[in-house]
Amino acid sequence: MNIIIIGPQGSGKGTQARMIAERFGISHVSTGDMLREIARQNTDTGAHIDLLIRKGSLIPDDIVTDLLSRRLSEDDCKKGFVLDGYPRNANQAKLLEVIAKIEAVIYLKLSDEEAVKRLATRFVCNKCGEIYGIVKQPAEEGKCDACGGDLYQRNDESEFAVRRRLEIFHKDTKPLIDHYRYKRLLHEINANQSIEQVFSDISLIVENL
Ligand code: AMP
Repeated sequence: MNIIIIGPQGSGKGTQARMIAERFGISHVSTGDMLREIARQNTDTGAHIDLLIRKGSLIPDDIVTDLLSRRLSEDDCKKGFVLDGYPRNANQAKLLEVIAKIEAVIYLKLSDEEAVKRLATRFVCNKCGEIYGIVKQPAEEGKCDACGGDLYQRNDESEFAVRRRLEIFHKDTKPLIDHYRYKRLLHEINANQSIEQVFSDISLIVENL
């Protein structure tokens, strides 16, 4: 089962993708996580990607697609995957059709106002990637409930970078919603609900695929 999860930053994509992967035994493939890992490496490519991420700009399609294509050919993706962060524009959607067959697209719908509010208070675990924020707070401040790792704020979540990413979402990514609706693959979910309720709505869809 191959699924895409799509939505503005702050809509809970990462959190829901992890939950879907765990519940349905498929792999969570996040292009953002893969790119952040490269950005941490001490190489010219790493430095270039780091700069683009910090500005809230997109990484060139050929670089991301090449990375994704290699990842999707790994063994664990054969049983299925939930794709988080790709495609982000019409060109990437076209390229994806060549490398994978998608059965459903989950669209997490959220207003810009709510997205900005959520991102300003978002913290991520530096060990396991668990995400915390106004919707889900850690029991101990600055520490991950799941693994005890330290929580940090992503460097592309300054208000400037967030607004830039939302702008890109509306201009480049949102047209994909119509594309997938036309292809009868789209399932729209109200992301302005509790994590559990959003996950229950998604599960109903995935169970019936
Ligand atoms: P995300 O974690 O999905 O919000 O991605 C964080 C950042 O990684 C984005 O703001 C982009 O700079 C970069 N990125 C992630 N996925 C893609 C993609 N499919 N195409 C281009 N850039 C991407």
